[in-house]
Amino acid sequence: MKKIQMKTKFSNPVLLTILAMILLAVMAGCSSAGEAEATEDKEAAGETKRPILIQGPMPIEAETFAERLENVTIEESGSTYEFYIGTVDGYPVIVSKTGKGMENAAASTAIAIEKYNPAAIINQGTSGGHDPELNVFDIVLGERTVNIGSMKTGDRAAGEGIEPTEWKPMDVMASEGSAGEDPNAEKARYYEGDADLLAAAKAVKDSYTKGKIVEGTIGSADLWNNEVDRIKWFHENYGTSVEEMESASVAMISKAYDVPFLAIRVLSNNKTNDGAYNADTAIANQEYVYEVVKEYISFLESN
Ligand code: SAH
Repeated sequence: MKKIQMKTKFSNPVLLTILAMILLAVMAGCSSAGEAEATEDKEAAGETKRPILIQGPMPIEAETFAERLENVTIEESGSTYEFYIGTVDGYPVIVSKTGKGMENAAASTAIAIEKYNPAAIINQGTSGGHDPELNVFDIVLGERTVNIGSMKTGDRAAGEGIEPTEWKPMDVMASEGSAGEDPNAEKARYYEGDADLLAAAKAVKDSYTKGKIVEGTIGSADLWNNEVDRIKWFHENYGTSVEEMESASVAMISKAYDVPFLAIRVLSNNKTNDGAYNADTAIANQEYVYEVVKEYISFLESN
């Protein structure tokens, strides 16, 4: 009789539901306690701090830094964008291999900002000299970056030819209207490098012994200029120290999201003084940028 009663008790659907609910409530309690512990662990490891994002376009411009990260995991977006997620001195740092060119730089920046919410972005890598005073292995801190591929040509009818030296800079951000029709858009847009990142970079200048470090203007476009007169034209008209293919694009996206940004570019070549291309400059630059990041981390930690 008792046995039968027991059986009825446990097969009663109402009772079973109540028991299941109690069990679920206990489990939920356990898991939220577990989550709280995990968050505490992460905080202790600095993982809830906003990371610093270090970008390099080519493998040789990203992997030296990536190898120096601790606790690394790798995440990918699409087939091009790779993120090495790790720490430097216990602080979260992400090295991003962006791929070459303005589009890749912009896309990987927007993805990184949406996914990882970085506190600051440094775009670094190689570049070609526009200033004959700068030699291969010298480094330019991007006081300003500018898109040197954004241009409006002169007004010329069929048969009147092509005159590149007459082309004017064009600011696609001047208004939401047509840049082609807008005379206010006939100017170059310069993006300022972030003052705190620049200060960190200047503070560790002496750690770099392979060349000099100067502040300057970095011009970007999907363009490789080998005409020395054209290079000189950019140097005189835009004030460019070097050219490369990414920084101004990253500057534009960083500004759109209000994330502090700095470009740091080493000269890997300089047509204006016969400076031959040297790929080792990419490694030297990452070693310097690593010192900049450590300095910037101590700045962030003390504020
Ligand atoms: N010389 C390399 C190709 C680099 S392609 C090779 O033959 O393998 C261009 C990349 O190098 C871009 O990411 C760009 O940012 C950088 N770069 C270096 N020097 C440059 C220059 N003189 N003009 C344009 N981009 C340059």
